[in-house]
Order: sequence, then C-alpha cells, then structure tokens
Amino acid sequence: MIVTLEATTPDSTREALRVAAALIGSAANELRYDDGAAVVVVEGDLPVDVLALPGVRASFDKHKAYMHASKLARERSIVMVGSVAVGEDEPVIMAGPCVVEGREETLAVARAVREAGATILRGGAFKPRTSPYAFQGLGELGLQHLAEAREETGLPVVTEVMEPDQVELVAHYADMLQVGSRNMQNYPLLRRVGSAGKPVLLKRGFQATVEEWLMAAEYILASGNPNVVLCERGIRAFDPAFRFTLDLNAVPAVKELTHLPVVVDPSHGTGKRSLVASMALAGIAAGADGLIVEVHPAPETARCDAAQTITPDELALISRRARLIREVVVGDGVLV
Ligand code: PEP
Ligand code: MN
Repeated sequence: MIVTLEATTPDSTREALRVAAALIGSAANELRYDDGAAVVVVEGDLPVDVLALPGVRASFDKHKAYMHASKLARERSIVMVGSVAVGEDEPVIMAGPCVVEGREETLAVARAVREAGATILRGGAFKPRTSPYAFQGLGELGLQHLAEAREETGLPVVTEVMEPDQVELVAHYADMLQVGSRNMQNYPLLRRVGSAGKPVLLKRGFQATVEEWLMAAEYILASGNPNVVLCERGIRAFDPAFRFTLDLNAVPAVKELTHLPVVVDPSHGTGKRSLVASMALAGIAAGADGLIVEVHPAPETARCDAAQTITPDELALISRRARLIREVVVGDGVLV
C-alpha cells in the first residue's frame, strides 16, 4: 500500500509504520522529497489504526507494483538538475552531440546549444554502441570536457552511465545520470543510480512496455532517489523507414500514471534529421516537459548518429517553437 506523509510527521508515526510493516512480514520503504513530503510504501496492507496516526496524509491500499512512481503517491514532481527545474511550465531543452568528441569540439557545441536556447548540455562519454568496433567514447576524459563546458557556459550536464561500477565516477562530473535504453532493465545499475545522489534520466527501453518502464523507475525511487525524469526515445516497430518510432501515446499515458516529469527524444525516436523538428514539437504538444536532442555544428561529420543530428540553428527554431507550444499546453494552468 501507499502511505503519504506530511512534512511535519513525527518520528513516532514513522516508527509505528515500520513496526506495523514488520508485523505483516514486510518493510516500510520511505522516500523523502526535497519539498519535505514523504511517501512510505509497503507490500501488503497495514491496520487502520496506524493509518490514523498524526502526519499521515492519505493511504491507498489498491496499487500497482510501481507504488513510489504512482500518481497516487504524489500529484507532480519537479526535478532539479543543477539550477534547472524539469517539470515546471518552462520546457527543458537538453542538447549536445551524441558522443563527446574532444575538448574544443565540446566547448564549441556547448556555446552553440546555449545560444540556441538549450538549458542542459548532453553528450556521451561512455557509449553503448551496437557494434563493438564502433567508437566507444572518450571515457573519463570526455567527462572532463563536459565539466569544463559546464564551467564555461553554466549549462548543467547530463551524460550516460552504463555500469554500476562507473556510477561514482560519472556522478563526480555530471549533474544528471542518464540510463540508456539498452540498460533500462539493468537492475544493479538502477539500484546504484538510486543511491548516487544525482538526478536520473531514465530512457525507455526500445522494447519495453509503459509498465516495465515505470517499474524500472520504481527501482531508482525505492533505492532512495526521488529525482527521476522519464525519457520516451522511440520503440522498435515494423517499418525500416524509421530507426525507431517515437511513441507519443506514451507521453500522456505515463502522465496519467505517474508524477514524474517526462521528456521526449526525437533524435533516436526518428533516426532522421529531417523528422526531428516536427516530432520534437509534437512531443511538447503531447505534454512532454522537455526535449533531449542531438546537435552538432557540422552534423554530417558527427562521430556518432550523424543521420539524426541537427544544427544549432535548427535547435534554435525548435526551442522557440517548443516554448510557444508549451505555453498553449499549460495555458490554463493545468498540465496535461
Ligand atoms: C543517447 O542518448 O546517447 C543514447 C544512446 O540513447 P538511447 O539509450 O535512447 O539509445
Ligand atoms: Mn545517439
């Protein structure tokens, strides 16, 4: 069951919940949010007298397996990445190259995407490449370039982590940890990023159902990290015309089920440069809280995913229009 707690909940109530959970052979898993509210989830149902103790705001005994991620646990979460809020009215624009290429290149692309309206810098230093012979990224050196670009531009950095043992290193440099599509169900990795103290961008596995995606988010939340942003990045469909198919059904669908912010990746979701702007804007129209887009000053020469990479000028157009569409979407003060 799900038990929501006020910020003022006394320790005695928390202790009573723990004891009551133990008595039914379960455990009370508590997650505290930065705004002071807390949610306790328990596998099983607690007696009604415990649920009437001071500080208990509400309880729900019918639940799916993703209790912390559920909309019953919380109406809406805002996730801070450095000083950038994800999930507020302003759409977040994460942009940068697929892979970090070098020091000068990273500084140049960071300046260009900031100029084009990006609020977070993306770039892979550890890359999950389909071929073992493809460029695997610069590793720690790439993280250092990203950190230097942050110092210069002020843009917080999101970058991928692929292995549990890399989490500490990546978290040392990054402002947000990206769990890639291919690792969405890597449970040891999800647990580790759940205790790393940095927000997490959880990309949807390209063969994962919405429920599996939310369960993956639940691993991170249940490990103590309340700061998770979901990313719809396309699923594998039957048509080879597209690398992947951006599943925009999923955006309003997960918004009905979870309080976590959602962003859309139109780069991997299409695989094709000419489709990126349309699908980026469609994602915002569907209710996404932001975008993550692959950008390079000379896209054709990008070392990775060149075919789906756009120019900073194209990003500038997307950012301007995304802000206008977002204004319409949240115009009546009600987020879809
Ligand atoms: C990426 O964003 O660099 C990436 C590898 O994406 P995905 O995990 O969605 O394929
Ligand atoms: Mn890529």
